[in-house]
Formats: sequence, C-alpha cells, structure tokens
Amino acid sequence: MPRILIVEDDSLILTSLARALAGKGFHVEIASSMHEADLASRVDLVLCDLGLPDGDGLLLVRRMSSERPDVPIIILTARDDETDVVAGLTSGAVDYVVKPFRLNELIARITLQLRLRERSLRDDDVRIGDLLIEVGARRVYRHGVEIELRPKEFDLLVRLATSVGTVVRRQHLIRDVWDQHWSGSTKTLDVHINSLRRKLGDSPGSPSLITASRGVGYRLEAR
Ligand code: CA
Repeated sequence: MPRILIVEDDSLILTSLARALAGKGFHVEIASSMHEADLASRVDLVLCDLGLPDGDGLLLVRRMSSERPDVPIIILTARDDETDVVAGLTSGAVDYVVKPFRLNELIARITLQLRLRERSLRDDDVRIGDLLIEVGARRVYRHGVEIELRPKEFDLLVRLATSVGTVVRRQHLIRDVWDQHWSGSTKTLDVHINSLRRKLGDSPGSPSLITASRGVGYRLEAR
C-alpha cells in the first residue's frame, strides 16, 4: 500500500484530498506545516504545498529531496507564474500541479510517479566502491562475494546508500527502516549497524565502510 504524505495548511484541501486518496487505497499521512512534515513517517511520495505557515515549502522540498532522493515530491500550489514552476521543478520536485487542481488528473500523476519509482528501485543496482547492492533482488555483494543480510540489515544498508557520503540521522534511520510507531530502544539501531559492519567485512583497525557521527547518525562512505 503506497504511503503518501500531504503537506498542506489549508484544512479544507487537506481533508478532502486525504479522503479522496484514502478512497483510492493509498495510506495517507498529513502535515500542516514544515515542522510536522519533518516528523512524518516513512513515505513513498509527497504532495507539498508551497505557502506554509512556518516557511516557504520550497525549502522543505529541497531538504526532503536531498535526504530522500528516492521519494518523489509533487508540488501542489496556487503559485502559477512560470518562474515559480521552474523554481519548483529545479528544487527537487518531480512534478508541479497548480491549484485549483483536477482530482483525477492529480491521482493519475501520483500513480505515474509511484510506478516510475517502483521501476527505478527494481532496476537500480547501486555500486559504491567494491560494494554492489541489487536493490530489487535484495542481494548484496562485496568484492564480488555475496553477503547474507537479514531484512532489516538490508533495508538499513539501502537507506544509507540512498544518502551515500552524508550522515543520516538516527531518527531518520529508525523512521525509514522501522516505523514511526516503533517504540523499541534505539539500541536496536546500533545492534543492526554493528552486525551490518561485521557482515560487510569490516575489521578492527581498517577504515569502516559505515562510520558513526556520534549521537547524530551514520554515514556510508563514498569510496
Ligand atoms: Ca498554503
């Protein structure tokens, strides 16, 4: 069930859109500010308004698209100037829909982006140095040798790989790999990271493929 986050401060649009998308079988998350959007759980697609009470939605689009390049963002706004559309589409959004929008057209655009995302996740092999991740097949190789990972270890590696070279915050890893409602100890994250490191063949004394930014998060090194 695809999960869609709607970031919109107009409560009338928010509730009617949420209801319509839920009626089409999507799992819907809602946020009425940039702050609330940051707290959202794992999602597959984002619909984002630009005029938000706590800032310009373009900032949010930039941030989300750099943190989660695999999650398509569709801007949904009343701003219809060409310069706004261009700014939106160059900020990391994949599509730009002007209000008032046609509901069925919007749903068709959402469905298209989800299909494209699924295809790219299925087809993409991620190569990072001597590491090869076959995302669709859920297989991982290092130096050409396959490594057996448990499902959460694999998800964690893929999540780190989508932001290779940058620190992914602990709360984002927990949110994306586990669940927003996950109430377990954050120790679980460290346990999985350590197990992942061991399986990836890190040995004491040699530089690790996954490095910790103490108290902040973890980074998969780009090499
Ligand atoms: Ca607004």
